[in-house]
Amino acid sequence: MAPRLQQPVGIERQYAKALKQYARRLGKACNLILIPEVPRLVESANRYRPDDAATPVAGRSWVDLLAGLLESTLGVVTGVQDVGLAAVIGSNQPEVEALPGPSSADEIGVVVYAEQISEHGLRQIRRMTKAQYGEQYAKDEPWLTDMLRAWEAQNLSLIRSIPERYVEELQGTVIRAINEGQSATDLAATIKGTYDKPVKRAQLIADDQVGKLHSQLAQARQQAIGVKEYAWRGILDARERPEHRRREGRTYQWSNPPSDGHPGSAVRCRCYGQPIWPPRDKVTLT
Ligand SMILES: [Zn+2]
Repeated sequence: MAPRLQQPVGIERQYAKALKQYARRLGKACNLILIPEVPRLVESANRYRPDDAATPVAGRSWVDLLAGLLESTLGVVTGVQDVGLAAVIGSNQPEVEALPGPSSADEIGVVVYAEQISEHGLRQIRRMTKAQYGEQYAKDEPWLTDMLRAWEAQNLSLIRSIPERYVEELQGTVIRAINEGQSATDLAATIKGTYDKPVKRAQLIADDQVGKLHSQLAQARQQAIGVKEYAWRGILDARERPEHRRREGRTYQWSNPPSDGHPGSAVRCRCYGQPIWPPRDKVTLT
């Protein structure tokens, strides 16, 4: 039997590590920028409570203060440092600059990961065709650049959405907490309780995206040499979708995907298509 297709688990782990490190900067930036201002936010909000007899003091609303702090936090992971940042974070500036991890999505180097996934797939198809036909896959890949660029663009947009979505949600969380009358201590704890959310999302994106590109490339390379069918293969663990488990070992056409796509298309799907090799005279390896 020919060698089975191997998932790029090492690359997936590295990519997840980079994305999570990037996402962790959000919590660290909050600690330096937002948390020190929490007492001021709460105090400022309380000044304007309708049941408070004190006369409102003229000045910036706590909502504007919060928006400014969140924008500065966002700047730490987008590389966009607004002019107000230095003023807002003041003496924390050196610490902000020293935060570990990529300081923008562009610094993660998605291009390098795309190339690594492609190289991994190329080694796989070479190994499999060598085992099957005694001759290696050596096709030109004029479609490759477009496929990698599309993946890179989509990944950059997904990575950028991590801080954007987080800060937007955090704004809602803080406003709700203040409206509920949380103390400064409670609000600080509420904020710190959100730090893990972007990290989890980073992990999900990495798991999902590496497998997707790997599957797409495997399909493209198999079809390029004349493989028309594959056998559905899954990991067969508790995480696998029941409907994917039911497909185990069944034959599918590359030209006719199931309703949720070929193996590896559905979110976080780790299934793969094991090529059904045609006779040697039906394939073109060069
Ligand atoms: Zn699956």
